[in-house]
Amino acid sequence: MKDFANMSNFRLLIDGQEREGSTGLCEDVFNPATGQVIGAVAHASTADLDLALSTAVRGLSEWSAKTPWERGAILKKSADLLRARKHELGLAMTLEQGKPLREAMAEVDRSADFMEWGGEQARRVVAEGLIGRDPANRITIERHPIGVVAAFTPWNFPMALAAKKFAGALGAGCAIICKPSEETPASVLGLVRALLDAGVTPAAIGVVFGVPSEVSSYLIPAPEISKITFTGSIPVGKLLAAAAGKAMKPVTMELGGHAPVVVCKDTDPEALADYLVPKKFFNAGQICICPTRFFVESEVHDRFVERFVENTKQLRVGDGTLDETQMGPLASPKRLEAISALVEDARARGAAILTGGERIGNIGNFYAPTVLKNVPAEARILREEPFGPLAPIIRFDDEAEMLRQANGLEYGLSGYLFTNDAKRQRRLSDGLQVGTIGINDIPTHIPEVPLGGWKDSGYGTEGGQTILGPYQKTKFVSQR
Ligand code: NAD
Repeated sequence: MKDFANMSNFRLLIDGQEREGSTGLCEDVFNPATGQVIGAVAHASTADLDLALSTAVRGLSEWSAKTPWERGAILKKSADLLRARKHELGLAMTLEQGKPLREAMAEVDRSADFMEWGGEQARRVVAEGLIGRDPANRITIERHPIGVVAAFTPWNFPMALAAKKFAGALGAGCAIICKPSEETPASVLGLVRALLDAGVTPAAIGVVFGVPSEVSSYLIPAPEISKITFTGSIPVGKLLAAAAGKAMKPVTMELGGHAPVVVCKDTDPEALADYLVPKKFFNAGQICICPTRFFVESEVHDRFVERFVENTKQLRVGDGTLDETQMGPLASPKRLEAISALVEDARARGAAILTGGERIGNIGNFYAPTVLKNVPAEARILREEPFGPLAPIIRFDDEAEMLRQANGLEYGLSGYLFTNDAKRQRRLSDGLQVGTIGINDIPTHIPEVPLGGWKDSGYGTEGGQTILGPYQKTKFVSQR
């Protein structure tokens, strides 16, 4: 912890005003490509959190009083502002998170899409009417904003994953207090500035930082909070869901994945490797729906592996601000340690490292894109979400056994299958226990579709026609 004075600062944002945080404490923010400090993020005290809560209660009554039409117009304007600012916002994201600038700018665009979609859906909220069992009875089912939302957002897509939550909550007429990852404060602050400039009620949006467990354990039980939403790891998600359950608060949990990728014998293995390598190493593999465990049928295994390794070796890893960079650094030294530990565990258990398998240089958090084969089933990398640039490839002959292995984890976020055999497409699509399936495709999350995990990968969905649903409560009105 440091004193907050004399640093390039990322402050708390409450009621449209930046505040330094009454703890006077802050933590450094690093550029993951250089290891250099790029600023400091303020820590909130409980007094600051109390202020954020009381402000949000006022914001809720002001923002929810706007008509859906007005809210839609404001959210659309915020989308336009984000698109106009995408270069500066993208650069800030690259500097704090590491991803290549063009990926960062694409993320700003995707965030704008979410805000626009949330605004459009805000205008489509309708009440349902029906005639009761007594014909004199008129029944109406109304949808109201659920209240003040506490949102906890991560560092891997620091703007887009927050934008999903802001779009749903603000579209529904809620106020929202967001605690972004302290590692990537600029992206959410940039998103929120666009929302404020577009005309969102200032009191309806708060941004706070601090020690994550302290902030969440203060906000979740607070009576002002009516809804919890979190994107991050399964262990943290379980902690927050338990705290929310104790306080009888509904949750949306978008958690980790360990996506199987099934490559069948009728595919063109070289063409498929060409398609899959950039998808695997996008955002340095730090994606919840990242293709992760590659199950490749024996007939095409060797050709697939050879081309996959060849392409992986050619990836240009470097500082995300450079045009030629295809993969940036990992987001933090903590991630570098976690990835190194998974590879060392696999190596010690006899896995073959076909390329990569080590840190690049000693400045920044660069780790070489890594391909492994002959990984024993008990290796940690096949059981724990790697969340990094690691591609274990597993040969299979027996489809039923492969499916058993693919489904054998607590994760159930996404899965991908590659075959043109229609019967196999249906069988594998039905057989994989996940919330998102790509058939000859690795889809990205667009606002039009709901994304949610099965099993421990989550609870509820984000996006789609129902983007506002998690932020609404219904009221059944019966009138005679
Ligand atoms: P982590 O679980 O420590 O942190 C993930 C996020 O949760 C961070 O933004 C952090 O600030 C926040 N967080 C942590 N403890 C919290 C608490 N008690 N209360 C509120 N927020 C809290 O993991 P990490 O090492 O930063 O990231 C690696 C793991 O996180 C990966 O293995 C992956 O499973 C998961 N992750 C998933 C997603 C996703 O999109 N689903 C995004 C980021 C991270």
